[in-house]
Amino acid sequence: MPAADCTGPAEETAGGRLTIDLAALRANYIYLAEAAAPARCAAVVKADAYGIGVARAVPALLAAGCRDFFVAQTSEAAAVRPLLPADVPLYVLNGVDPGGERALSATGAMPVLNSPGQARRWQAFAELETRALPAALQIDSGMSRLGMAPDEARALWEDAAFRRTVPLALVMSHLACADEAGAAANGEQLTRFRAATDGIAGVPLGLANSGGTLLGDAFRFDLVRVGIGLYGGAPNDGGANPMRAVVGLAAKVIQLRTIAAGTRVGYGLTYAADAPTRLATLAVGYADGWPRALGNRGAAFHAGVRLPIVGRVSMDSMIVDVTALAEGALAEGDWIELIGPDRPIDTVAAEAGTIAYELLTNLGSRYRVCVADDA
Ligand SMILES: *Cc1c(COP(=O)(O)O)cnc(C)c1O
Repeated sequence: MPAADCTGPAEETAGGRLTIDLAALRANYIYLAEAAAPARCAAVVKADAYGIGVARAVPALLAAGCRDFFVAQTSEAAAVRPLLPADVPLYVLNGVDPGGERALSATGAMPVLNSPGQARRWQAFAELETRALPAALQIDSGMSRLGMAPDEARALWEDAAFRRTVPLALVMSHLACADEAGAAANGEQLTRFRAATDGIAGVPLGLANSGGTLLGDAFRFDLVRVGIGLYGGAPNDGGANPMRAVVGLAAKVIQLRTIAAGTRVGYGLTYAADAPTRLATLAVGYADGWPRALGNRGAAFHAGVRLPIVGRVSMDSMIVDVTALAEGALAEGDWIELIGPDRPIDTVAAEAGTIAYELLTNLGSRYRVCVADDA
């Protein structure tokens, strides 16, 4: 990896090395955009592009042809808007907070209006500014998280004064079970969204996230909003993951030792070797976002060999059993795979009792970060 592509601590002093493959990110965008066509494919870049960094992800997504973006919060819109051409729309999924109207509008982004109260405050702000301020409307089609009831949304778009002041750029909803292709809830939400938007003319509609985009034509409408699939996570449970891996993680070996049978390991001494065991201490811990839940159950990989995590994960380090490797195969300073071809993010997340979304968005700030781009 050429040094020029890396930021953060030097190779010699870093405890962990994160690699981000922008060619894979672009390929994932193109895959999902082709699956969504003729619907438009928006990229969700909330939470700093699921941890990989908006300054890296947004230019790559623009280069891949993406022309619609979503974040969750106004502060994220302020960071993303300057990365976008003026004619590329940016939406704030969490909507507009009381008193936050001016700050949101100053970013140049549009709120997703989730409640009648939000909608009326945005309208009042637009009237105060004496200009039209476009927005999206979200309808709750069954998830009970964000979005208004269908009759509340209808009352807004049938209100000519509202429509004049708040031109609707999008009417959307969100699926609760899109990752479970067989879930009955998907069809139920689709039916509710169709009924709720029946008769609304001239406004693009959107329902699907990554998983929803792959559920079939009926779920795509005019605009899909994809996140996890872009970053390499499996959009749907079960079956092969069609997405390319974007994120890799390696940890440095900082100490090697051999312990005798009966010797215990790590905080709480929760692991005891039942035979002479070779151990490697790796310089990544829960402060780096490596899940503490992987103590005594997760693994690292080296040269195709599984290296079980033994004992608890510490803040700045963890211990793996390297007995399966040939003696002398490892030295201090070597790098061990934590996320990579042998350890996909969905596998690591499942072993930790979580999901790839949480694993990615928790990755810490101490890593050496190397960006690969084989364009
Ligand atoms: C996060 C989010 C998305 C993206 O979902 P993925 O499952 O990551 O594709 C889409 N829509 C909404 C409303 C979201 O909150």
